[in-house]
Amino acid sequence: MTNLRLAIVGFGKIATTRHVPAIAATSGVELVAIADPKAKAQDVPNFPSLDALLRDGPPIDAVTLCTPPQVRSAQARLALEAGKHVMLEKPPGATVSEIAPLLSVAEAAKRTLFATWHSRCAPAVEPARALLADRKIKQVTIIWKEDVRVWHPGQDWIFSAGGFGVFDPGINALSILTRILPRPVFVTRAELGFPSNREAPIVVEMDMTDATGLPIKVEFDFRQPPPQTWDIRIETDRGPLVISGGGARMSDGDTGVVDAMKEEYPALYRRFVGLASKGECDVDLAPLQIVADAFLLGRRRNVEAFEF
Ligand code: NAP
Repeated sequence: MTNLRLAIVGFGKIATTRHVPAIAATSGVELVAIADPKAKAQDVPNFPSLDALLRDGPPIDAVTLCTPPQVRSAQARLALEAGKHVMLEKPPGATVSEIAPLLSVAEAAKRTLFATWHSRCAPAVEPARALLADRKIKQVTIIWKEDVRVWHPGQDWIFSAGGFGVFDPGINALSILTRILPRPVFVTRAELGFPSNREAPIVVEMDMTDATGLPIKVEFDFRQPPPQTWDIRIETDRGPLVISGGGARMSDGDTGVVDAMKEEYPALYRRFVGLASKGECDVDLAPLQIVADAFLLGRRRNVEAFEF
């Protein structure tokens, strides 16, 4: 099998820290170029934009889009129309509706569109899903609090319209939730705290539920200095199941059942190589839809101005 020749578009924090090592560790895919207005990758040719890469770059089969979400759908369309497979960092776009037209282009051209949810590849997620499948779930509490200055230093796009604010990490929790619960969930109340000088929330509280009335409480906060909290606690008829460390650990009652290194990105690339070999798509918009609904339903309040 020949390698998938891949270019990364948007060579910032996640591209350099996670995607490059994951590509190097995955058979069937090789990094052959990058596109970014400023970044300089050392071992492959650099282009200032996706346009320039498609015009002047080496032959490629696929792109991974690690750009901010606001510019991603136009880039995905350009790449798909040029016949490339496309992997999207999370969130898959800045709106829900922009994804369906991309999927149509991909399916018509038998190219892959892969909307990744890296947190779903965390080691606790599939074991939690399996354990919950035959339990009665009584309540869910999500506490997802981290320091934006640590994880997104100087990234003003994250507090611009379409940048998601604290939903950027919060959607990771929602991607786990929507994978492990047996039924679809929806928002019933949301309080969104916007810094008075920004266009996206820095703190969010939500209530959610499902068709059975399951109570789900959610707290996201982007202002928590380390240590960080990425926990989901699920009360069940056989005691609490607690996912912590963003999915790296899980306990069932008093027993620790998962405690593993997170190997999320190599799993994403193995999946992408498999999908691309068949020209198939994998797009689940459930976490993005919940965020959109929180903006629709949520009550907005101003909180203290934020500077990096
Ligand atoms: P980042 O460090 O700001 O990287 C984004 C890069 O894209 C920057 O180098 C930016 O260049 C470049 N860019 C902007 N517009 C572009 C365009 N039109 N064409 C090509 N490149 C362009 O952000 P990040 O933290 O890597 O996050 C990117 C995505 O990854 C987000 O969706 C985020 O949710 C996801 N993610 C991030 C993390 C994390 O811990 N940081 C974890 C998981 C997933 P300029 O800076 O010059 O604008």
